[in-house]
Amino acid sequence: MLGLMMDTPLLLKHIARHAERNHATREVVSVTADHPRHRYTFADSLARARRVSNLLDRLGATADARIATLAWNDFRHLELYYGVSCSGRILHTINPRLFAEQLVYIINHADDEWIFFDVAFAPLLAAVAAQCPRVKGYVAMTGAAHMPDVELPNLQCYETLLAGESDDCEWPDFDERTASSLCYTSGTTGHPKGVLYSHRNTVLHTYAMTMPDAASLSALDAVLPIVPMFHVNAWGYPYAAMMVGAKLVFPGPSLSQPETLVDLITEEGVTIAGGVPTVWLPVLDYLRRSGRNLKPLNRTVIGGSACPLSMIEEFRDSYDVTVLHGWGMTEMSPVGTVNRPNARTAGLEGEALRAHVVKQGRPLPGVELRIVDEDGVEQPWDGASFGALQVRGPWICSDYYELDEPSAAHVDGWFDTGDVAMIDADGYVKITDRTKDVIKSGGEWISSIDLENVAMSHPAVREAAVVGMPHPKWQERPLLVVVTDTPGDALAAELLEGFEGQVAKWWIPNDVVFVDELPHTATGKVSKLNLRKRFEDYRFPDA
Ligand code: AMP
Repeated sequence: MLGLMMDTPLLLKHIARHAERNHATREVVSVTADHPRHRYTFADSLARARRVSNLLDRLGATADARIATLAWNDFRHLELYYGVSCSGRILHTINPRLFAEQLVYIINHADDEWIFFDVAFAPLLAAVAAQCPRVKGYVAMTGAAHMPDVELPNLQCYETLLAGESDDCEWPDFDERTASSLCYTSGTTGHPKGVLYSHRNTVLHTYAMTMPDAASLSALDAVLPIVPMFHVNAWGYPYAAMMVGAKLVFPGPSLSQPETLVDLITEEGVTIAGGVPTVWLPVLDYLRRSGRNLKPLNRTVIGGSACPLSMIEEFRDSYDVTVLHGWGMTEMSPVGTVNRPNARTAGLEGEALRAHVVKQGRPLPGVELRIVDEDGVEQPWDGASFGALQVRGPWICSDYYELDEPSAAHVDGWFDTGDVAMIDADGYVKITDRTKDVIKSGGEWISSIDLENVAMSHPAVREAAVVGMPHPKWQERPLLVVVTDTPGDALAAELLEGFEGQVAKWWIPNDVVFVDELPHTATGKVSKLNLRKRFEDYRFPDA
């Protein structure tokens, strides 16, 4: 027997309509190349999103057109988030930091009809446009006075186009499983793979994100998504903030400028921010040097790679900001787990607390987890057994977009995340490593994340990474790579001593090398692959 409830489809337009009715006067504040501090209301934003939908009709975009963006976090990008998806079309957010050949591949693979772009990316597009012949036109997201001086086929001006449209647009009803957005993962091998989100999964993920044991978002919050809108829908903030009526503050092209980020936090009353650990390193450094604080920020979601213990403690002890350590991935919309206390962990102190806060947290309701060994046998949640972390649930991708062959990551209805993890009895996950980054020494595994945590706690270390390098006796041994202002034998010895008592003796890295900077991926994570390549001729002193 079916229940007798209204069969309202879960569509993004319902988030938009709820925001228009209930949070119309809430602000969206953006830094953009053409506005130092642009501000308008949710009502203004969604009226312009309706113009975007009308514009796409007039431009002749097909019913399920992929409409690409190459843009920073700002109000125009937000208008496209809603205007494209609510019209039934698919927003394809492109990472502008990809290599030119990856850009060409994904534009053609997605079959993008139109590309909306920030003026700063005009030269990038001009260089690849000839290799993307099916794109019907390019729209510069600016006003007529700031149009880029480049050769692009059918180049249009966003503000001029929107000025010619009406706010009057009734967004259609359609199946909630309809695709809403598309994001490619920048895989380390092979071509990038497309993850195709649906309205249903995005709405469900939005509800989950706002829960108290997730980001705990409310109408009293002001959110600063530092995580780019081209990286997994900025972790869902553009939807979640609109749904609950939280002010949205966008850093635009300034997402790696600590001073602007701190200005935005303090002047716009930001209470919650989100970003990968690497964006926070320069911010914390700037705060130490300037003596400024982060008031009224009270929490920040950090994920995308492991958040070092030293960062969690500095936020808490120096700025009264709680780090919500989260884990997820593009294939998971992206949030899988968030580290929030439960009745048992809330009272932890000292070493037990330190060991706990570096964990990636408990799964959001809707995300099912398991860890399995090499034979696929499920491992217990005892905080000691580890295995390949697999997930399933309504906001986890069931396959990649138009792949030539089915993905090997999907097995028996589970998605293999490519991460190795332990899970404790309370469901807290601890990621050991990416499967391909674990260090195999004498048949045993060493967690590079744990070693990095110890190294990063030394005040002289700006950034650190540990990679497994070949060793004639042990197969692999850990090599610690450090960015610091004071390189030298003295610091190397101090760092190695620092591991004593913190990790098993046989985990301690065999050597320390100093570099000016670590290689990062297009999404701001340390690229272990490039790091290993860079040191391919390295030999351990005892090898
Ligand atoms: P992406 O799809 O680019 O967001 O990358 C997802 C991957 O980032 C995951 O499979 C993890 O390997 C890694 N990751 C994300 N969050 C964390 C975290 N908090 N700690 C450790 N690794 C993480």
